[in-house]
Amino acid sequence: METCIFCRILERSSPARIIFEDDDILAFEDARPQAPVHILIVPRKHLASLKDAAPEDVPLLGRLLLVATQLAREKGIETRGYRTVINSGSWGGQSVAHLHLHLLGGRVFRWPPG
Ligand code: AMP
Repeated sequence: METCIFCRILERSSPARIIFEDDDILAFEDARPQAPVHILIVPRKHLASLKDAAPEDVPLLGRLLLVATQLAREKGIETRGYRTVINSGSWGGQSVAHLHLHLLGGRVFRWPPG
C-alpha cells in the first residue's frame, strides 16, 4: 500500500519546509499557500480524518491547536488574527487523507468560506 504524502514527509522521504516538530507533531509550509502564512500542523500518528480520532486522541487534538497559537505568535499574525481549519471528507474539501490543521494568516478571511 502506498504511504500517504504526509507520512512520507514525516519520515523525511519527501521534502517539506519544516517549521516545527516535537515527539507528536510536525508543522511545515503548505506547498500551494492560500495566504502569506499557510502552515500545515500534522500529527505523527496517522489518522485519516477527524472522524477517526478517538477519546485517547483528545490531548493530541488539543496540542495541534496550541502549536497553531504558538506558530501564529512566532509568524507575527497573532495580533491581527488568523484562521485555523480542518477540512474533513470530500464535501469538507479534504484532499490529503492524514489529519492536519491549516494555519492561515497575513490577509483578511471572509465568512462564509467558499
Ligand atoms: P486538505 O485539502 O485540507 O486535505 O489540505 C491538504 C493541503 O496539503 C493542501 O493545502 C495542499 O496544498 C497541501 N499539500 C499537498 N501535498 C503537499 C506537500 N507535498 N507538501 C506540502 N503541502 C502539501
